[in-house]
Amino acid sequence: MAEPEVNLRKTYDAVIIGSGAAGGMAAHVLTTHGLQVLLLEAGKKLPIEQELRSMEWPYDNAHRGFLPPDSHSLTFNEYTIRNPPYGAGFEKAKHLHSYVGSTDYVKNIVVDERENPFTGTNYAWVRARCLGGKTNIWGRLALRLSDYDFKAKYRDGFGENWPISYSDIAPYYDKVDLYLGITGVKENLPYLPDSIFQRPTKLNCAEVTLKQGLQKMGRVLTQYRAGVTSDGLKHNKYRSRCYGRGACERKGGCDIHAAFDSPTGLIYPAMDTGNLTLRTNSIVREITVDQATGKASGVLFVDSQTMKDYNVRAKVVIVAASTLESTRLLLLSKSRLHPNGLANSSGHVGHNFCEHIMGPGVAGRAKDLVGKPPTLDDGRPGGFYLTRFRNLAEKHPKFIRGYGFEGGSGSAMFPRGADTHGFGADFKEEVRKNQGAFIGMGAFGEVLARYENFVELDPVVKDKWGIPSLRFRYKFGDNEYRMAEDMKETAQEMFEAAGFEIVHVSGRVLTEGWSIHELGTARMGNDPKTSVLNQFEQSHDVKNLFVVDGSAFVNASCQNPTWTIMALCWRSCDYLADELRKGNL
Ligand SMILES: Cc1cc2nc3c(=O)[nH]c(=O)nc-3n(C[C@H](O)[C@H](O)[C@H](O)COP(=O)(O)OP(=O)(O)OC[C@H]3O[C@@H](n4cnc5c(N)ncnc54)[C@H](O)[C@@H]3O)c2cc1C
Ligand code: SF4
Repeated sequence: MAEPEVNLRKTYDAVIIGSGAAGGMAAHVLTTHGLQVLLLEAGKKLPIEQELRSMEWPYDNAHRGFLPPDSHSLTFNEYTIRNPPYGAGFEKAKHLHSYVGSTDYVKNIVVDERENPFTGTNYAWVRARCLGGKTNIWGRLALRLSDYDFKAKYRDGFGENWPISYSDIAPYYDKVDLYLGITGVKENLPYLPDSIFQRPTKLNCAEVTLKQGLQKMGRVLTQYRAGVTSDGLKHNKYRSRCYGRGACERKGGCDIHAAFDSPTGLIYPAMDTGNLTLRTNSIVREITVDQATGKASGVLFVDSQTMKDYNVRAKVVIVAASTLESTRLLLLSKSRLHPNGLANSSGHVGHNFCEHIMGPGVAGRAKDLVGKPPTLDDGRPGGFYLTRFRNLAEKHPKFIRGYGFEGGSGSAMFPRGADTHGFGADFKEEVRKNQGAFIGMGAFGEVLARYENFVELDPVVKDKWGIPSLRFRYKFGDNEYRMAEDMKETAQEMFEAAGFEIVHVSGRVLTEGWSIHELGTARMGNDPKTSVLNQFEQSHDVKNLFVVDGSAFVNASCQNPTWTIMALCWRSCDYLADELRKGNL
């Protein structure tokens, strides 16, 4: 289907680049303020319900849910022995995906690595190029940050503090909770503030056992805080409430949109205001600049299908292409007035790259559940979250900052954490007896934001559309590896304290990027010499340019970022609309 023609004679109030969590939120807030907005998305608008097929059973799928034979998704071992760009060694695969693209349900959502190459140090870079971006398949763990994160430098002296405090963003977290819906239980923890929760999911037997074991150690396990509406949202006709159908276990999204995704949660309601023009298949390759004023004047984009180029004008440019793509775009937008790339007089664009380290974890078995009847445990959007406990009141001698664990237990379509041996009927019986008794969890830890971890433009390699690719210069450091050792030890210690039989303990650190939480490459700050954006995600250098995704983060915290991306974006867009009205942009 042909894309709607953008009005090239019009100067839009705002052009937004990218339609994921950040771009969708910007579209919602700005159209609600009455601005005339153009939203450009590089990928297609997929028939998403047909892609996700949340109710499809494995035996109804030609490949039992796995990829067709002509496609391949990278494994941990391949990330370890192959270097990007991933060409040699994969000649047999017509389509090559990141590790997330391993099922039939996501193969059209994640990018083809060959069409979108990158170079440099190894990185499991997961990208989703379609309307809604990664929110179509995100894991939905929706956590708030606190002043333990925003003011972390005061606690341990490392890095920079954020230019905001929790009290600045708290009202916006509330707005996001109410507009999009979130499930969970209040815990009153200063380091993991509560949301305004809808009906929570229930913990199952082994999870309650673990929770009780942890209470004796002063550690907190809480229900998975999911960006899912469990009670429904009266103001949104595109989303249903969660009725616990089980597909949350599978890599893929929710085809009734109980789980938040940007199109149904934000973009379609924004279109209903009449103020939003959406154009998909539109890859922005440069932000243009008025050479007289130095201000952003609009964007150049190429239609991904026809290869035709367009130039469109806007009073404000909002970059929301996801952390690393936004950074790439700033670096691509070089001009006489901005020779190092747009908004980069500080030289910090691309630097202070941070995320979460993953890998260490534990699997165990609750022996008293062996042989018990199966329960419907995968019919819920998540299991549990075990909150951070390091470097709160005490200082750990070996590392700074913290980590939390995500985990779950109980019956699932395919037994998880299984360590069942044997053959034939006996084996099947063993699987049945044990399958609901397994419990497992894996850690997510803060990777420190260091200037020397960065991305830049590759001087040679280009993507399918002739746009220069990114080159990574990024590695975990000593603090991360010391933290990972501790994750492994504490995971085992906590399962033992709960009385579980230990099945497997892993200390293996996964490839950089595995968490899919890339952050920090255009950080906020008060000092234009050491930061790219101010507290409203507005460029210090170019006042009508805003970068509203995870690149604005000052540190990674150990909590998942998406709810914070959206709360910050809402706050920034309120400010933007106000400034535009006052004629300050
Ligand atoms: C499997 C998976 C599990 C996850 N689990 C969690 C979780 O449990 N909790 C959590 O908080 N986060 C999770 N995340 C991360 C979460 O999805 C991201 O934090 C979030 O989507 C970021 O939003 P964004 O708008 O910055 O980027 P995206 O959602 O990636 O959207 C960016 C959009 O910009 C478009 N774009 C890129 N370049 C251009 C260009 N040049 N021109 C035009 N458009 C462009 C892309 O096509 C894309 O649609 C998970 C992600 C994945 C993939
Ligand atoms: S459990 Fe709920 S959120 Fe998850 S796929 Fe099913 S309906 Fe959607």
